[in-house]
Amino acid sequence: MMENKAPIIEINNLSYRYASEDVLKDLNLTVHKGDFLAILGPNGSGKSTLIKLLLQLLKNQKGEIFIYGTPIEKFYAWEKIGFVPQKANAFNTGFPATVYEVVRSGLTKKTGLFHFYPRNVKEKVIDVLRAVEMEDLINRNIGELSGGQQQRVFIARALISDPEIILLDEPTVGIDSKRVASFINLLERLNKEKNITLIMVTHDLSAVINQVTHIAWLNRSLQFHGSVKEFKNINKVNAQSFYQTDLESVSNVQVNGGKH
Ligand code: ADP
Repeated sequence: MMENKAPIIEINNLSYRYASEDVLKDLNLTVHKGDFLAILGPNGSGKSTLIKLLLQLLKNQKGEIFIYGTPIEKFYAWEKIGFVPQKANAFNTGFPATVYEVVRSGLTKKTGLFHFYPRNVKEKVIDVLRAVEMEDLINRNIGELSGGQQQRVFIARALISDPEIILLDEPTVGIDSKRVASFINLLERLNKEKNITLIMVTHDLSAVINQVTHIAWLNRSLQFHGSVKEFKNINKVNAQSFYQTDLESVSNVQVNGGKH
C-alpha cells in the first residue's frame, strides 16, 4: 500500500558546525505525521544539536528544514511543537513552583510581556495532568517529585498547547529504570490515541524498540533511518555494532545544562 501520510518535517542536506568541524553532516530525514521516531547514536553524535536546530534554538545551519512545508526560518506556529527537555528533574526540593504552575507555564509562549491565561486554564491543566496520570499531584511542589514524575509534568506542560509534534531530549534520564517502561508506554499512548508525532532522543534502544515506529541512527551523518521493522531486518553484524554504540553512550550520560 502507498504511504500517503503527509511529511511534517523534511530535512535536506543539513549540516551544522559550532567551530571548525561539522557536528551534523549532510543529513536527510523526513518525519511523517504519526511517526514515533527514536533518534539514537553515541555521545557527541549531534542528537541534541539536531533537536536544537528543529526548535531554532540554533540557527545558521547549512541545508534546509521544512516544517509543514514551510522553511523553518519562516515558520511561526511554534505552539504546534512541544518540547520536553533533558533533565527536567534538576529542580531541588525548595523550588518554588507547584505542578499546576509548571504546567500552566506551557501556555505563556508568545504572549509577550503579560501572561494571559484562558478562562478555563484550571480545567486544561487538570485535563493534561490526567493524560499523564498526575492529576493527584497538582498542588505539590515540583521539586518534591521523582525524576519520572517531573518528566510526566513536563509532558503535560508540552501537551497544554495542543501540540501536533513533541520533541523530547533524553526524557528517560533520571527515571528509575523500573519506571522507564511505563513512561515509554505513556508516550506510545499519546502517539497512538492523540496521533501526536513524537521525536525522541534516547540512549536506550532496548527500552523503546517495541513502542517506537521509526529509528534514526546518527553519528554526525545519518547511519540509518527507517521503520523498526527495517531496522530489525538489517544484517545482524550492523545491528550488533549499533547496540554496542548504544551501551557506550549509556555509561557516559552527558551533562548538558543551560537548555530551556
Ligand atoms: P549528542 O546530543 O549526540 O551527545 P551534541 O549535539 O550535544 O551530541 O554534541 C555534538 C558535538 O558538538 C559534540 O562534540 C559537542 O561537544 C559539540 N557541541 C555541542 N554543543 C556545543 C557548543 N555550544 N559549542 C561547541 N561545541 C558544541
